Amino acid sequence: MHELSIVMNILDTVAENAEKHNAKVVHLIELDIGKLAGIEFDAFNFATENAPKTGIFKNVKFSVNKIEPIAQCLDCKKKFETKEYTTPCPACNSTKTKIIKGNELKIKSFKID
Ligand SMILES: [Zn+2]
Repeated sequence: MHELSIVMNILDTVAENAEKHNAKVVHLIELDIGKLAGIEFDAFNFATENAPKTGIFKNVKFSVNKIEPIAQCLDCKKKFETKEYTTPCPACNSTKTKIIKGNELKIKSFKID
């Protein structure tokens, strides 16, 4: 499952950083996930609940912030909310747009002891 391997990658990344801070336990991992990041949120939640969690992650919880996608028109520079990659600009109807927010998947913070 795609989402499970993402969760395992996140745990690896947090483990590396937690070790640098001599963490004994990780309580919470807070994530920013864009709605265009290609993540199925239900599957992702299932993966966070069912990923094997040992050692510092024994009681870890996940908090996911869903980020609403924002696109910007490359012709008129207008920024607008979108639900997909290919929405034309609402101001000038240009199809030359890019997603500037909402396709990310990043670890925002984590709480350790
Ligand atoms: Zn435009």
